[in-house]
Amino acid sequence: MRDQFGRSIEYLRISVTDRCNFRCQYCMPLEGLPWLPKADILRYEEIADIVAQLAPLGLRRLRITGGEPTIRPELPRLVRLLRDIPGIEDIALSTNGVKLPQMAGALADAGLHRVNISADSLRPERVAAIARRDLGFALHTAALAAEQAGLGPIKVNVVVMRGINDDELGDFAALTREHPWHVRFIELMPVGELRDLTWEHVVPSDEILARLSAVDALLPDATPVQGNGPAAYYRYAGAPGSVGVITPMTHTYCEKCNRVRLTADGRLRTCLFGEHEVPLRDALRRGEPLAPLFTRALAEKPREHALLQLRVGGLRALSEVGG
Ligand code: SAM
Ligand code: SF4
Repeated sequence: MRDQFGRSIEYLRISVTDRCNFRCQYCMPLEGLPWLPKADILRYEEIADIVAQLAPLGLRRLRITGGEPTIRPELPRLVRLLRDIPGIEDIALSTNGVKLPQMAGALADAGLHRVNISADSLRPERVAAIARRDLGFALHTAALAAEQAGLGPIKVNVVVMRGINDDELGDFAALTREHPWHVRFIELMPVGELRDLTWEHVVPSDEILARLSAVDALLPDATPVQGNGPAAYYRYAGAPGSVGVITPMTHTYCEKCNRVRLTADGRLRTCLFGEHEVPLRDALRRGEPLAPLFTRALAEKPREHALLQLRVGGLRALSEVGG
């Protein structure tokens, strides 16, 4: 599958729910969002059907996301359906990690390959303050459960917010000296109705790297970290893990974009930001072939996202489109 600019599209991010057990300050309003009615949400068989129709066109890698995917019942059943589709080589999960201690084994048995865990603090009271829910999340517990289940390499996603958690940059980076974990610092994207988070809270990746390097040399890491994304990686000498930065605000990596997104209600979105999407669900439910719709979507995939120009379209939260 190639889009109108010749980019090869082989990676699909699948949102399985728009709901979440957290209310991260940068993602969702405290009162939640107008949730999708159940009937509008794709059933697991429908998601698998879409993937099965995309795989012959070149789709190879999947990420299950949301909302919080682990709160949707029977998630391992979806993983099992997806792993049986010929051509699919890699199935990953993005999660806030709360349910990993109880679910990691079942997900691995079902065929999940690896997980990304979001963690914005190593301090329990701060986790609860950022997530605005105290569900007892602790990164070590979640990551070790995933590791024991064989869901590595473990990636840890930290959204950096000035004055809120940027004093923990060093503590997070230090984890990579002890564990083969890949800690990725994400620049805060002030999307949606983030009433309390503004551009002043964005910490540019250059500053993140400079602050970490001032403590100890952080060298560009040539070892490829298994994955699909735009992170740039660095490593402390001799460390088993690495430190990465994801820079939606300061560097655009759109020219290398390899992905499209499927929303929980079956819209194929070709760009995280912007209005470009093609509804698949109703055509699927009518039994129509989806290939012409994929072709149309790829022909319309924009050259780059408009976040930097603050044209974020009607997007209210990343949870709506699978982050
Ligand atoms: N609930 C899962 C989780 O938190 O990993 C998956 C969905 S979440 C929307 C996917 C990723 O988007 C998370 O790593 C989250 O931190 C990130 N994210 C959400 N809103 C963001 C924002 N405004 N700026 C930067 N990253 C954001
Ligand atoms: Fe939920 Fe993930 Fe959004 Fe946090 S970032 S509110 S965990 S969907």
